[in-house]
Amino acid sequence: MTNDFPQALTIAGTDSGGGAGISADFKTMQMRGVFATMVVVAVTAQNTLGVQDALAMPPELIDEQFASLAADFKISACKTGMLADPLRVKTVVNNLKRYNFGLLTVDPVMIAKGGAKLLSDDAIDVVRDQLLPLADLVTPNLPEAEELTQMTITTEATMATAGRRLQSMGAKNVLVKGGHFSSEDEANDYVLLENGRSFWLTSKRKKTRNTHGTGDTISSCITAELAKGKSMEEALRIGKAYVEATIKQGINVGHGHGPLNHWA
Ligand code: PLP
Repeated sequence: MTNDFPQALTIAGTDSGGGAGISADFKTMQMRGVFATMVVVAVTAQNTLGVQDALAMPPELIDEQFASLAADFKISACKTGMLADPLRVKTVVNNLKRYNFGLLTVDPVMIAKGGAKLLSDDAIDVVRDQLLPLADLVTPNLPEAEELTQMTITTEATMATAGRRLQSMGAKNVLVKGGHFSSEDEANDYVLLENGRSFWLTSKRKKTRNTHGTGDTISSCITAELAKGKSMEEALRIGKAYVEATIKQGINVGHGHGPLNHWA
Protein backbone atom coordinates (compact mmCIF):
# COMPACT_ATOMS: atom_id res chain seq x y z
CA MET A 1 0.00 0.00 0.00
CA THR A 2 1.40 3.39 -0.89
CA ASN A 3 1.30 6.37 1.42
CA ASP A 4 2.71 8.90 -1.01
CA PHE A 5 0.16 11.73 -1.32
CA PRO A 6 1.71 14.86 0.27
CA GLN A 7 0.72 15.05 3.93
CA ALA A 8 1.14 17.94 6.37
CA LEU A 9 0.35 18.52 10.04
CA THR A 10 -0.86 21.57 11.97
CA ILE A 11 -0.30 21.64 15.73
CA ALA A 12 -2.49 24.52 16.89
CA GLY A 13 -5.76 25.83 18.27
CA THR A 14 -9.27 25.78 16.85
CA ASP A 15 -11.36 28.83 15.96
CA SER A 16 -15.10 28.15 16.25
CA GLY A 17 -15.59 31.06 13.84
CA GLY A 18 -13.74 29.17 11.12
CA GLY A 19 -11.41 32.01 10.07
CA ALA A 20 -8.14 31.40 11.91
CA GLY A 21 -6.20 28.64 13.64
CA ILE A 22 -6.70 25.08 12.46
CA SER A 23 -9.59 26.06 10.14
CA ALA A 24 -7.36 28.47 8.25
CA ASP A 25 -4.63 25.83 8.12
CA PHE A 26 -6.97 23.15 6.74
CA LYS A 27 -8.48 25.44 4.11
CA THR A 28 -5.06 26.59 2.98
CA MET A 29 -3.52 23.12 2.84
CA GLN A 30 -6.58 21.80 1.00
CA MET A 31 -6.32 24.62 -1.59
CA ARG A 32 -2.61 23.85 -2.05
CA GLY A 33 -3.37 20.19 -2.78
CA VAL A 34 -1.98 18.71 0.41
CA PHE A 35 -3.68 16.29 2.83
CA ALA A 36 -3.92 18.01 6.22
CA THR A 37 -3.81 16.41 9.66
CA MET A 38 -4.07 18.13 13.06
CA VAL A 39 -3.04 18.01 16.68
CA VAL A 40 -5.52 20.16 18.64
CA VAL A 41 -3.62 21.91 21.43
CA ALA A 42 -6.42 24.26 22.50
CA VAL A 43 -10.06 24.95 21.71
CA THR A 44 -11.28 28.54 21.47
CA ALA A 45 -14.79 29.97 21.58
CA GLN A 46 -14.26 32.64 18.93
CA ASN A 47 -15.90 34.64 16.17
CA THR A 48 -14.89 37.56 13.97
CA LEU A 49 -15.37 39.92 16.96
CA GLY A 50 -12.84 38.20 19.21
CA VAL A 51 -11.97 35.27 21.42
CA GLN A 52 -14.62 34.70 24.10
CA ASP A 53 -12.99 31.72 25.84
CA ALA A 54 -10.25 29.13 25.43
CA LEU A 55 -9.30 25.81 26.96
CA ALA A 56 -6.01 23.96 26.51
CA MET A 57 -6.18 20.20 25.96
CA PRO A 58 -4.85 17.75 28.55
CA PRO A 59 -1.19 16.90 27.74
CA GLU A 60 -2.04 13.16 27.56
CA LEU A 61 -4.56 13.85 24.81
CA ILE A 62 -1.99 15.92 22.93
CA ASP A 63 0.48 12.99 23.23
CA GLU A 64 -2.17 10.59 21.96
CA GLN A 65 -2.95 12.71 18.90
CA PHE A 66 0.75 12.75 17.98
CA ALA A 67 0.97 8.97 18.51
CA SER A 68 -2.08 8.36 16.32
CA LEU A 69 -0.59 10.37 13.48
CA ALA A 70 2.89 8.87 13.81
CA ALA A 71 1.41 5.36 13.65
CA ASP A 72 -0.34 5.88 10.34
CA PHE A 73 0.72 8.85 8.22
CA LYS A 74 3.82 9.89 6.30
CA ILE A 75 3.93 13.58 7.18
CA SER A 76 6.67 15.56 5.46
CA ALA A 77 6.06 19.04 6.89
CA CYS A 78 4.37 20.41 10.01
CA LYS A 79 3.66 23.75 11.68
CA THR A 80 2.85 25.02 15.12
CA GLY A 81 0.31 27.77 15.86
CA MET A 82 -1.48 28.54 19.15
CA LEU A 83 0.33 26.61 21.92
CA ALA A 84 -1.38 28.20 24.97
CA ASP A 85 1.07 27.80 27.87
CA PRO A 86 4.45 26.38 29.02
CA LEU A 87 3.10 22.87 29.68
CA ARG A 88 1.63 22.58 26.18
CA VAL A 89 4.73 24.04 24.52
CA LYS A 90 6.87 21.45 26.35
CA THR A 91 4.46 18.65 25.41
CA VAL A 92 4.66 19.66 21.75
CA VAL A 93 8.47 19.93 21.89
CA ASN A 94 8.74 16.42 23.38
CA ASN A 95 6.57 14.97 20.62
CA LEU A 96 8.46 16.79 17.87
CA LYS A 97 11.65 15.21 19.25
CA ARG A 98 10.03 11.76 19.57
CA TYR A 99 8.64 11.54 16.02
CA ASN A 100 9.67 12.75 12.58
CA PHE A 101 7.05 14.95 10.93
CA GLY A 102 9.49 16.52 8.48
CA LEU A 103 10.25 20.20 8.13
CA LEU A 104 8.96 22.31 11.03
CA THR A 105 7.55 25.83 10.65
CA VAL A 106 7.03 27.63 13.96
CA ASP A 107 4.41 30.39 13.80
CA PRO A 108 4.97 31.89 17.28
CA VAL A 109 1.33 32.91 17.75
CA MET A 110 0.94 35.15 20.81
CA ILE A 111 -1.97 37.59 20.66
CA ALA A 112 -5.09 37.59 18.45
CA LYS A 113 -6.15 40.79 16.64
CA GLY A 114 -8.83 41.45 19.26
CA GLY A 115 -6.17 41.36 22.02
CA ALA A 116 -6.76 37.85 23.42
CA LYS A 117 -3.63 36.06 24.62
CA LEU A 118 -3.15 32.78 22.76
CA LEU A 119 0.21 32.15 24.49
CA SER A 120 0.77 32.98 28.16
CA ASP A 121 3.64 35.35 28.98
CA ASP A 122 5.53 32.65 30.88
CA ALA A 123 5.52 30.42 27.76
CA ILE A 124 7.51 32.85 25.60
CA ASP A 125 10.84 31.76 27.12
CA VAL A 126 9.95 28.11 26.48
CA VAL A 127 9.15 28.86 22.83
CA ARG A 128 12.44 30.75 22.48
CA ASP A 129 14.62 28.20 24.30
CA GLN A 130 13.03 24.87 23.40
CA LEU A 131 10.95 25.23 20.24
CA LEU A 132 12.96 27.70 18.11
CA PRO A 133 16.06 25.44 18.01
CA LEU A 134 13.90 22.75 16.33
CA ALA A 135 12.48 25.12 13.70
CA ASP A 136 13.36 24.93 10.01
CA LEU A 137 11.44 28.22 9.71
CA VAL A 138 10.06 30.75 12.18
CA THR A 139 7.41 33.26 11.01
CA PRO A 140 6.86 36.00 13.62
CA ASN A 141 4.95 39.21 13.01
CA LEU A 142 6.56 42.35 14.42
CA PRO A 143 5.13 42.17 17.99
CA GLU A 144 6.11 38.48 18.18
CA ALA A 145 9.61 39.20 16.85
CA GLU A 146 9.95 41.93 19.47
CA GLU A 147 8.96 39.56 22.28
CA LEU A 148 11.31 36.81 21.12
CA THR A 149 14.31 39.08 20.56
CA GLN A 150 13.57 41.67 23.27
CA MET A 151 14.16 44.37 20.62
CA THR A 152 12.12 47.38 19.60
CA ILE A 153 11.49 47.12 15.86
CA THR A 154 10.64 50.38 14.13
CA THR A 155 12.51 50.23 10.83
CA GLU A 156 13.37 47.74 8.10
CA ALA A 157 16.95 47.77 9.40
CA THR A 158 15.83 46.64 12.87
CA MET A 159 13.60 44.01 11.25
CA ALA A 160 16.70 42.57 9.61
CA THR A 161 18.64 42.66 12.89
CA ALA A 162 15.76 40.82 14.60
CA GLY A 163 15.85 38.24 11.80
CA ARG A 164 19.55 37.59 12.39
CA ARG A 165 18.94 37.31 16.12
CA LEU A 166 16.18 34.76 15.59
CA GLN A 167 18.51 32.73 13.41
CA SER A 168 21.21 32.83 16.08
CA MET A 169 18.60 31.44 18.52
CA GLY A 170 18.40 28.30 16.39
CA ALA A 171 15.74 28.79 13.71
CA LYS A 172 17.32 27.77 10.38
CA ASN A 173 15.29 30.16 8.22
CA VAL A 174 13.43 33.29 9.29
CA LEU A 175 10.44 35.25 7.93
CA VAL A 176 9.75 38.49 9.82
CA LYS A 177 6.32 39.76 8.70
CA GLY A 178 6.12 43.54 8.46
CA GLY A 179 2.34 43.88 8.18
CA HIS A 180 2.07 45.56 11.60
CA PHE A 181 3.89 48.75 10.52
CA SER A 182 0.88 51.06 10.75
CA SER A 183 1.77 54.05 8.58
CA GLU A 184 3.14 52.28 5.52
CA ASP A 185 1.27 51.54 2.32
CA GLU A 186 3.27 48.42 1.79
CA ALA A 187 3.51 45.16 3.76
CA ASN A 188 7.09 44.01 3.35
CA ASP A 189 8.47 40.87 4.93
CA TYR A 190 12.13 40.13 5.62
CA VAL A 191 13.53 36.69 4.76
CA LEU A 192 16.82 35.30 6.04
CA LEU A 193 17.73 31.88 4.64
CA GLU A 194 19.85 29.14 6.17
CA ASN A 195 22.70 29.88 3.75
CA GLY A 196 22.86 33.52 4.95
CA ARG A 197 21.10 34.98 1.90
CA SER A 198 18.43 37.56 2.72
CA PHE A 199 15.74 39.36 0.69
CA TRP A 200 12.42 41.18 1.02
CA LEU A 201 9.01 39.91 -0.03
CA THR A 202 7.04 43.01 -0.92
CA SER A 203 3.35 43.73 -1.44
CA LYS A 204 0.99 46.69 -1.52
CA ARG A 205 -1.09 47.05 1.60
CA LYS A 206 -4.82 46.53 1.09
CA LYS A 207 -7.14 48.53 3.35
CA THR A 208 -9.54 45.93 4.72
CA ARG A 209 -10.90 44.68 8.03
CA ASN A 210 -10.98 41.15 6.74
CA THR A 211 -7.56 39.93 7.81
CA HIS A 212 -8.52 37.33 10.42
CA GLY A 213 -6.15 34.40 10.13
CA THR A 214 -3.50 35.93 7.85
CA GLY A 215 -0.59 34.64 9.96
CA ASP A 216 -2.01 31.13 10.09
CA THR A 217 -2.62 31.20 6.36
CA ILE A 218 0.89 32.18 5.28
CA SER A 219 2.55 29.66 7.60
CA SER A 220 0.24 26.84 6.54
CA CYS A 221 0.69 27.66 2.85
CA ILE A 222 4.48 27.52 3.31
CA THR A 223 4.10 24.22 5.22
CA ALA A 224 1.95 22.77 2.42
CA GLU A 225 4.48 23.77 -0.23
CA LEU A 226 7.33 22.26 1.81
CA ALA A 227 5.28 19.04 2.13
CA LYS A 228 5.13 18.91 -1.69
CA GLY A 229 8.92 19.20 -1.85
CA LYS A 230 9.28 22.87 -2.82
CA SER A 231 12.46 24.64 -1.69
CA MET A 232 12.27 26.98 1.30
CA GLU A 233 12.60 30.05 -0.98
CA GLU A 234 9.88 28.86 -3.37
CA ALA A 235 7.58 27.99 -0.45
CA LEU A 236 8.06 31.46 1.07
CA ARG A 237 7.33 33.22 -2.23
CA ILE A 238 4.19 31.12 -2.83
CA GLY A 239 3.06 31.76 0.77
CA LYS A 240 3.35 35.53 0.36
CA ALA A 241 1.48 35.50 -2.97
CA TYR A 242 -1.24 33.23 -1.56
CA VAL A 243 -1.95 35.39 1.47
CA GLU A 244 -1.93 38.55 -0.69
CA ALA A 245 -4.53 37.03 -3.02
CA THR A 246 -6.76 35.88 -0.14
CA ILE A 247 -6.66 39.35 1.47
CA LYS A 248 -7.24 41.21 -1.80
CA GLN A 249 -10.60 39.60 -2.51
CA GLY A 250 -11.85 39.32 1.08
CA ILE A 251 -15.33 38.09 1.91
CA ASN A 252 -17.82 39.58 4.35
CA VAL A 253 -18.65 37.05 7.04
CA GLY A 254 -19.53 38.08 10.60
CA HIS A 255 -19.49 41.58 12.10
CA GLY A 256 -15.82 42.05 12.97
CA HIS A 257 -12.52 41.14 11.33
CA GLY A 258 -13.79 38.82 8.62
CA PRO A 259 -11.92 35.83 7.25
CA LEU A 260 -9.76 35.57 4.15
CA ASN A 261 -11.09 34.44 0.81
CA HIS A 262 -9.41 31.12 -0.03
CA TRP A 263 -11.42 30.82 -3.23
CA ALA A 264 -10.06 34.07 -4.69
N1 PLP B 1 -7.27 31.99 16.94
C1 PLP B 1 -6.41 31.00 16.79
C2 PLP B 1 -6.74 29.64 17.32
C3 PLP B 1 -5.19 31.26 16.14
O1 PLP B 1 -4.29 30.30 15.97
C4 PLP B 1 -4.91 32.56 15.66
C5 PLP B 1 -3.70 32.93 14.96
O2 PLP B 1 -2.74 32.30 14.91
C6 PLP B 1 -5.83 33.55 15.87
C7 PLP B 1 -7.00 33.23 16.49
C8 PLP B 1 -5.50 34.95 15.49
O3 PLP B 1 -6.27 35.41 14.52
P1 PLP B 1 -6.07 36.92 14.00
O4 PLP B 1 -5.55 36.75 12.63
O5 PLP B 1 -7.42 37.50 14.06
O6 PLP B 1 -5.11 37.59 14.90
